[in-house]
Amino acid sequence: MQHLWAFWRSTYIENVDKISEDCFLCEAIKQPPKKYREYLVLHRGKTAFVIMNLYPYNGGHLMVCPIRHTDDFTSLTEEEILEINKLVRACIKALKETISPHGFNVGWNLGRVAGAGLEQHIHCHIVPRWHGDTNFMPVLSQTKVISQHFLSLYDRIKPVLERLIKGDERG
Ligand SMILES: [Zn+2]
Repeated sequence: MQHLWAFWRSTYIENVDKISEDCFLCEAIKQPPKKYREYLVLHRGKTAFVIMNLYPYNGGHLMVCPIRHTDDFTSLTEEEILEINKLVRACIKALKETISPHGFNVGWNLGRVAGAGLEQHIHCHIVPRWHGDTNFMPVLSQTKVISQHFLSLYDRIKPVLERLIKGDERG
């Protein structure tokens, strides 16, 4: 199991250290909606949002986070817990519809020792998995190669995700 969970550390930690004290999740979600694409924000809800991971393990690696900057999972309110989980469900559905993964790793890395790249603002990872994708990571780690890939993936996932979330709101 170790190799499956350790990947979230990857080069992420070093990169985050270089971005000084700033929180890139807060930075992204404080942008006006017209900048969401540039910052890879897929959806902003009332208490939570969805963002694509800039250092993905796999194509379509998403994160769902509370809008509130917190490092404490136990501080999440009922409203936050509910919205986060509804967004996780919508993300899984949207990924199934768009890129047809064979499975998912979904989870929280709380604290640096547990592999959190950004421990001060908790986030839930949604990583699509395909049979035989373990050899895929070194290719995807070359961020330059995937920058274009990111935006086309963003453009595919976003409308599907928004439709699913609207469907959820209608009940
Ligand atoms: Zn933050």
